[in-house]
Amino acid sequence: MPATDASLMPPPSRTMNFNAGPAALPLAVLEACRDELVDFGNTGMSIMEHSHRGAAYEAVHHDAIARLRSLMSIPDGTGTGGYDILFMQGGASQQFAQVAMNLLSPGASAGYIVSGVWGEKAVSEARAVASQSGATVHVACTTASSTPGAPSEASLNPGRWGGDAKYVRVPDAEEVALAPTDAYVHLTTNETIDGVQYATAPGAIFPSFGTVPVVGDMSSDIAWRPIDVRQFGLIYAGAQKNLGPSGVTVVIIRRDLVEAGRTDIPVIFQYRTASRNTSLYNTPPTFSIYLMRQVLAWIGNLGGLEAVEARNRAKASAIYRVIDAFPEFYRCPVAVDSRSMMNIVFRLPTPALEEAFVASSEAHGMVGLRGHRSVGGIRASLYNAVEPAWADALAQLMHDTATRHA
Ligand code: PMP
Repeated sequence: MPATDASLMPPPSRTMNFNAGPAALPLAVLEACRDELVDFGNTGMSIMEHSHRGAAYEAVHHDAIARLRSLMSIPDGTGTGGYDILFMQGGASQQFAQVAMNLLSPGASAGYIVSGVWGEKAVSEARAVASQSGATVHVACTTASSTPGAPSEASLNPGRWGGDAKYVRVPDAEEVALAPTDAYVHLTTNETIDGVQYATAPGAIFPSFGTVPVVGDMSSDIAWRPIDVRQFGLIYAGAQKNLGPSGVTVVIIRRDLVEAGRTDIPVIFQYRTASRNTSLYNTPPTFSIYLMRQVLAWIGNLGGLEAVEARNRAKASAIYRVIDAFPEFYRCPVAVDSRSMMNIVFRLPTPALEEAFVASSEAHGMVGLRGHRSVGGIRASLYNAVEPAWADALAQLMHDTATRHA
């Protein structure tokens, strides 16, 4: 690890961005985007100015879908053997409701596994939908150390990780109690605020529940490594962490679930509408999809998801290594086998030391390290476009800070 203070300086003109999302984008992507911003492919106009019905944009659109399919090895068969890739708007937050709108018929139910704050929000929105449609939503498992539901006043206490963090682990499949009427089971593969992630060991798989489709909110850990998409009935993710800018949400849905979806909800919310129109039913977020395509190409150039996994694991190890080396100074509340590779949360001994650490990081050209406002502490988000050198610089700063206070 570099030892001089100068080594902590960012590359010229680039800030070391540890934001939780919107997050860092690859410099090569931004530069390519800049170069063709006012004249896309010698058309004399920006991609933003092209019609979504025109050949120039359509080529971009279909290429983005093809690249994601290839990168994540998303099966293209029929029925249960194939998945549609849909580009939606409204963020992952809209999917909290849209999943339930499509998949919950009257009399049906859905089980939600809650391992963090975003899971709580997903249940709450699904409940609102279910109450309108004669269906029910239940918490099939929660790992909260206090009552599930909206974050309590107590959870807003910045000192809550001084020993009683609310979410510190993912559950085992045996802890999950499904009902026979459950049409799906929902989980959050990575809890962005709590730093709690499923299946982090190399090659680990996600929990399965017989034939009940698993719906995964993969907003903060899609495409950080290869997975077997067939472990899920539906995956959704906002692009603004691992895949590109905000404005587009990716939905990967098994084709039989598209067909089985409700037909008595507004057309715009039916997955079949996006499916039948290749996400061109109405005007899509063309610029976001264009930029996502560039990021997908960049991941491909890095060597695909295997290479990205190695790069991401190295970044996370650099940070966790320092946390574990100074147990008197740093504390990560998350159980070791649930520790997120994407969002690393930790505390320093006092809020004052945390403030000083954030100030020091900013002086060294780093941004985005303050923990989510609801939980406090420090959070380092290490998404795909975060450079390994930035993680090394952060690890060095953490090392130096702890040593100074030893
Ligand atoms: N789920 C998870 C796991 C998230 O991290 C976020 C955003 N941070 C959301 C859902 C909500 O996403 P959006 O802002 O795109 O609605």
